[in-house]
Amino acid sequence: MSFDLKNIVVQPLNSLSSKSVQLSTLRTDLIHPVVSGNKWFKLRFYLEEAKRLKCNTIASFGGAYSNHIVALAAVCQMEGLHSVGFIRGESGDSPTLADAKAFGMTLQFIDRENYKYKEVVIAENSHLDWFWIPEGGFGLLGANGAATILEQPQIATYTHILCACGTGTMMAGLVKASLPHQSVVGISVLKNNSGLNHAVQSLLPPDTNKKINTIHDYHFGGYAKHPPALIDFMNDFYLREKVPTDLVYTAKLFYAAEQLLQSRYFPDGSNVLIIHSGGLQGNRSLTNEALMY
Ligand SMILES: *Cc1c(COP(=O)(O)O)cnc(C)c1O
Repeated sequence: MSFDLKNIVVQPLNSLSSKSVQLSTLRTDLIHPVVSGNKWFKLRFYLEEAKRLKCNTIASFGGAYSNHIVALAAVCQMEGLHSVGFIRGESGDSPTLADAKAFGMTLQFIDRENYKYKEVVIAENSHLDWFWIPEGGFGLLGANGAATILEQPQIATYTHILCACGTGTMMAGLVKASLPHQSVVGISVLKNNSGLNHAVQSLLPPDTNKKINTIHDYHFGGYAKHPPALIDFMNDFYLREKVPTDLVYTAKLFYAAEQLLQSRYFPDGSNVLIIHSGGLQGNRSLTNEALMY
């Protein structure tokens, strides 16, 4: 298995543009069908660091449909490293975990109560020279990796960069890499995530004077919630633009982009780049009939 960063393209979105505002999407989802775009970028410098420290086992945390877990398993296999995933829940059986296992990951299940105390899990395993990556890849190395998403030709032509936010790590990287005339806008996929701006800020150099713009109106009820209106949007958007989206992150992102365009959030002349951050494998939590793709 390998990733091909050359597969990443910018796709103009005709149904999401007006006479005076152009929206396009950066398709990082195209690097691999299972290993989603932004997770590969967020992991790259963690793995470099683990290698530098000569750790050959990498451990992290996640849920049964975690994009982070399956990406970590895949990247470790490619790099000849062993991976251990601590999974939330008593036991787990999902296509995501089956893939992670097939990529050589050792899975350990932790019940929901104990999962809250990750530092205990880390302490219990501290005798084993493992390299730990925070859940979701949150951290400076994750943000620095995400910053490299913007290493694209023509990047200077965009006025706005739109992304989905979970932990805010990707957004921090994008803010860091953005040019002075660009504004980065993060769409939170969690409900009432009042700590998001602070989380993003904490991953930026203290002298950063860039504004952290986050929008909290498009979570559809909360993390991974997917009411019929969201599923309808996913099918409709696929019909219009042939862009598949995932129910946790990118469907909410593109929905938000459309609403923002219609409410004239973007000034005339704006050229908006929406980061398609992948995550499509997570749609396997739906029944087969729900999506047309
Ligand atoms: C994890 C993920 C995000 C959010 O990234 P954060 O750095 O945690 O904010 C966005 N999109 C997809 C597809 C993801 O898997």
